[in-house]
Amino acid sequence: MKHIKHEQTLVIVKPDGIQRSLVGEIIKRYEQIGLKLVAMKMLVPSGDLVEKHYTIDPNWVRLAGEKQIANARAKGETPASEFPVEVGTVVLGHLKKYLTSGPVIAMVWEGAHAVAIVRKMIGGTEPLSSDVGTIRGDFVLDSYVLANQSGRAIRNLVHASGSVKEAVDEIKHWFKNEEIVEYRLVQEAILYEI
Ligand code: GDP
Ligand code: MG
Repeated sequence: MKHIKHEQTLVIVKPDGIQRSLVGEIIKRYEQIGLKLVAMKMLVPSGDLVEKHYTIDPNWVRLAGEKQIANARAKGETPASEFPVEVGTVVLGHLKKYLTSGPVIAMVWEGAHAVAIVRKMIGGTEPLSSDVGTIRGDFVLDSYVLANQSGRAIRNLVHASGSVKEAVDEIKHWFKNEEIVEYRLVQEAILYEI
């Protein structure tokens, strides 16, 4: 079995992160916590790449729809449709438009608890309610209300894998094996060795 220090997660700086000149800030945070950058590339993703990314988990469309319907109800609003797959498909369409609108940077970060730590540092999906101190909480002011009013995806700067399983599938989707670099960082001695 792989040592826990080799857990990997996929991070994508979305087009708004690039346009807001936050690439360095985002990378700095993962470097500072002790994670290791093992792959990185810049590209303008195709609609097909984005669609496949979000549908690697066949339940994602339905779950995204359920989440949006629940959000609408919690605010006393009527959801756009009662059918989660219908609502989720609209979200997927918005995401394709958002993520293909310009260059993104895809990265693989490695280290103990990489998936959970990166998610913690990104903050919740909606910047309005993401915790202060997180990337989404500190650098962007978007909300479901604002995004839905304009008929677009929430702009929240970064994507990160939601679970170890999701990370394995997503890394395979964005990177070839040989694009992931194996090397030793000197700080690993102080982080992991006895
Ligand atoms: P994440 O893992 O926190 O990025 O959230 P999800 O995997 O649930 O959703 C993927 C992305 O779709 C989010 O980061 C948002 O950009 C967008 N998104 C998700 N749900 C909604 C929604 O209800 N409304 C809008 N406008 N965008 C959404
Ligand atoms: Mg997600």
